[in-house]
Amino acid sequence: SGMLYIVATPIGNLEDITFRAIRILKEVDLVAAEDTRHTRKLLTHFGITKPLTSYFDHNKSLKGEYILDRLRDGLSVALVTDAGTPCISDPGYQLVRSAVSEGIAVVPIPGACAAIAALSASGLPTDSFIFHGFLSNRSARRRDCISSFKEAKHVIVLYEAPVRLMATLEDIRELLGERVVVVGRELTKLHEEFVRGPVSEVMDSFVDRQIRGEVVILISPRSEETQIPDFAEVEARLRKYFFR
Ligand code: SAM
Repeated sequence: SGMLYIVATPIGNLEDITFRAIRILKEVDLVAAEDTRHTRKLLTHFGITKPLTSYFDHNKSLKGEYILDRLRDGLSVALVTDAGTPCISDPGYQLVRSAVSEGIAVVPIPGACAAIAALSASGLPTDSFIFHGFLSNRSARRRDCISSFKEAKHVIVLYEAPVRLMATLEDIRELLGERVVVVGRELTKLHEEFVRGPVSEVMDSFVDRQIRGEVVILISPRSEETQIPDFAEVEARLRKYFFR
């Protein structure tokens, strides 16, 4: 059977595609894309013409079968999504799972991933982290999930829509307290921005602004709180200690 390549594409800056990704996209028989129009533009930019087929959330079982058939026939297929690494908060997992269970070789072609890019420049501890992807869009579930981060000893990495950034930061402040957070916005693009600090300060910096583009939110673990020099709090603690 053919090979299934899981090909990462840029998350904004087209220079972030890898030499290997370009070679694989040139060599495969078929490219399965989340949005064929979007991917056609990317391929055209790199001078690649290739048959494209769509593979996205709502056609994934039907299209999965079609793609598996091509692989069984010995064709090689590259799976790409609109941005970053397929299967990471993006379609692909079921296809990979089916291919693996049939003994079809699945080969990752690594590259950009917003979560890793944000974490790497966040300044938060990077030794261990929890990637959570998107929160539920139902308010009660979102809040339950954020509350469940209370005792986490690792940095939490979230994907969020820009329109919900403020509400999510507000929930973090309310449910977890004054944690240090980092928001990475428009990574690798012209207006790339990092905002780092206690959650209220980060919120202040976004207030009265229309928040555009794509964002990653990182929440520091509880133990990190001690690293914020919050003098008012230190003073309050000392006072409690000396004057109890
Ligand atoms: N598969 C992608 C990856 O590897 O990062 C993630 C796809 S997910 C559908 C899209 C989300 O990723 C956005 O809502 C945002 O949270 C994050 N994201 C993608 N590109 C980004 C960028 N350039 N800057 C900040 N966040 C980004």
